[in-house]
Amino acid sequence: MTQVNGIEFKQNLVPKSKYSIKCPNPMKAKKITVHNTYNDAKADNEVIYEVTNDNQVSFHVAVDDNGAVQGIPFDRNAWHCGDGSNGFGNRNTIGVEICYSKSGGSKYTKSEQNAIKYIAALCVQQGIVATTDTIKKHEDWSGKHCPHRILDEKRWATVQKAIIDEYNKITKALSKPATGTTNAGGSVVDYLNSKKIDSSFANRKKLATQHGIANYTGTAAQNTALLNKLKTGVAPTPSKPSQSGYKGTSLVDYLESVKKASDFSSRAKYATQNGIKGYTGTATQNTQLLKKMRGF
Ligand SMILES: [Zn+2]
Repeated sequence: MTQVNGIEFKQNLVPKSKYSIKCPNPMKAKKITVHNTYNDAKADNEVIYEVTNDNQVSFHVAVDDNGAVQGIPFDRNAWHCGDGSNGFGNRNTIGVEICYSKSGGSKYTKSEQNAIKYIAALCVQQGIVATTDTIKKHEDWSGKHCPHRILDEKRWATVQKAIIDEYNKITKALSKPATGTTNAGGSVVDYLNSKKIDSSFANRKKLATQHGIANYTGTAAQNTALLNKLKTGVAPTPSKPSQSGYKGTSLVDYLESVKKASDFSSRAKYATQNGIKGYTGTATQNTQLLKKMRGF
């Protein structure tokens, strides 16, 4: 099971054959739009319904008391804002549905708490700085009374602030240089500061990626590796296939064996890095990608 900021996360992505209905446009998400489902179904079922019907209605993630389920890739638009085919909400924001809002109660409360934690982490993943300008509600785009329960209870400002606070908590933790690990050469932050280079988490993440350190989250080991690479001044080199004892044929199992993210968007990124165009996660593409990444 994958977890995002302590929230169970899984995918049930819409088949590519339905992209033209559900998510026709590529997107670089700029904001998040919060919804209430106005229903009493669990997230799994909301997403199954979403990805199997043929309505031009879609959202990226549903969150319930057990976790988050993704139905639409984050790099594609979804139809959840009611602001038209070129509306800012529909074309630039990730739609997150909070389940069990119709009847409310403890399942809803837990769903909302999970959504707050999940959305904050999603902002970090997507490079969205969580503010009152980027954490939006459906109502902001089309005037629809959604998220209805949050609005009825007059809690929008509270929920929005909770997301922003959680985001600030995560990014603060990430930007604090890890301590306690042997690092004869000092901290990467000190090193960057001494060179007058931006030492923020975002920039370290960028530098890490440029130097072949995948999935930088600011751990002590990653900071040490980054410091060493920066100090040696060696030009970034493509990373060698990681060592793995895994000999099977599943790409996801292989990625997990080398502690790399195996979700769809990460695989799509690896595919692009490895020259596989138009990755949609087919069995053939996965086999091809496994060969390129593992070396056999
Ligand atoms: Zn809505």
